[in-house]
Amino acid sequence: MESEASQNTLCINCKASHQFKYCPECGQPAAKRELNFRYLYREFKDSVLGFDGRFPKTLTHALRNPGAMARQFILGNRRKFIGPVGFFFVCLTVYILVMQLSGFDMKSIIQSQQSAFPQTDGDAAYINASSAIGEKLNEYFRLFSFLNVLLLGVFLYLFNIKKGATFIQHMVYAFYVQGFNYLVSIGSLLIVATGNILLASIYAASLPLVYQVHSYTTYDRSGGWIKRSVKGLAIFGCVIISVFILTFAATVIYLANNPDLMELFTKEAGKN
Ligand SMILES: [Zn+2]
Repeated sequence: MESEASQNTLCINCKASHQFKYCPECGQPAAKRELNFRYLYREFKDSVLGFDGRFPKTLTHALRNPGAMARQFILGNRRKFIGPVGFFFVCLTVYILVMQLSGFDMKSIIQSQQSAFPQTDGDAAYINASSAIGEKLNEYFRLFSFLNVLLLGVFLYLFNIKKGATFIQHMVYAFYVQGFNYLVSIGSLLIVATGNILLASIYAASLPLVYQVHSYTTYDRSGGWIKRSVKGLAIFGCVIISVFILTFAATVIYLANNPDLMELFTKEAGKN
């Protein structure tokens, strides 16, 4: 099945006529490669690990020095690492997969909080209403995650406005760091699966914070380590507070548009 590319070939993909090993228009190899298990394995390796192990390289840089990785990408090196947006969505997808496998999604978090309180007869409708909100949160989880990146970009820009980097340049760093942050957060999902809620909460409240502050010190290169750490902490704090406010506002708007649910919640609040 292997054919030589010495004379003109017609590209299988874009139909351009050329005489190279790869189509100059679209990159499709001229030689038709035999479809066997070795080919499938190579295809898997290239797409999962990236050419020359780009994915593992991106992972270790995201952990150790995300600032340097973002700077290299911004300066124009687009081959060394997986791009920030792709990296973010791969990490997010892995996180959501683990979340679904461990059965600890937004709906079950809300339900587990309710089972901590004694139930009365009239509570069934209330529980239904809460699980409807939990389902909404699951539905919008990707959007919510993207909001986190956007807010980090906004606060990086505001805190560094004098340095002249554009909002989009800060977004490069934001995608890498928030992406890796999801991988860090998988740890707390795994601890939850073992049933140790306290340890999981301590993990969730500390490790992402440590990672965010460490990351920022690799990104901002001005001033001493302490100054950069405090600034990183302030930026991360602003993101957390904004996410909290926006989520609260979205819930209120959602309830306001669903009078039945609203009635249930206000009734419940009146009882306590
Ligand atoms: Zn082509």
